[in-house]
Amino acid sequence: MKLVKLLANLGYGSRSYVEGFLRKGVVTDIQGRVLGTKDFPPHAEILFKGEPLDPPAPLTLMFHKPAGYTCSTDDPGDTIYDLLPPRYALRNPVLSPVGRLDKDTTGLLLMTDDGQLLHRLISPKHHVPKTYQVTLDRPLEGHEEALFSNGELVLRGEDKPLLPATLEVLGEKEARITLEEGRYHQVRRMFAAAGNHVLELKRVSIGGLALPDDLEEGEWRILGSTELAVVR
Ligand code: URA
Repeated sequence: MKLVKLLANLGYGSRSYVEGFLRKGVVTDIQGRVLGTKDFPPHAEILFKGEPLDPPAPLTLMFHKPAGYTCSTDDPGDTIYDLLPPRYALRNPVLSPVGRLDKDTTGLLLMTDDGQLLHRLISPKHHVPKTYQVTLDRPLEGHEEALFSNGELVLRGEDKPLLPATLEVLGEKEARITLEEGRYHQVRRMFAAAGNHVLELKRVSIGGLALPDDLEEGEWRILGSTELAVVR
């Protein structure tokens, strides 16, 4: 692959834009030598404006989603892509969210260009647990745990019962719920079926990967191989 194509695929800009960067001398090797269109050192030795290039595919990010942003690529309003470097929306293949969160849901969101990982994490067949912390409008009544765990709850407008989910009561109006599937607005609709209303919802873990305490809302980082191993 040529340097221009590599940079364009990594989302640094269109080919003509990238050629402009090369002319301006902002792409160098680790010795500081300015690279041109004919150069092609190893990926790890290429710097863009002094920073190492993003890794090639497969790339997976861990993102702490704040409220107020949708997970859509074509929403005219505020989207998670507005909070990431523009190149992450332009990469080829694009980074997609692993299981969308609603606009008002916060917490752990993975974004990947790895189709196999995406499928594995969202397909209910693989039973990868996702845990959410929930703040409710009204006190829990005691019947919710059985309702959610019996594998018989059918959400309004659907025919197929939900897979059993686990509820851990944390307080009068606070709970943690763990699901192995991700239907549309699932947690909110489950609590609506129990006669309650979700005020706040935060995803705190996916598989064995918990949202780290030091990752503030709006922050993201690239997942390393050790973290990737626990999420699978
Ligand atoms: N369930 C919901 O209702 N919303 C989310 O964002 C995630 C799970």
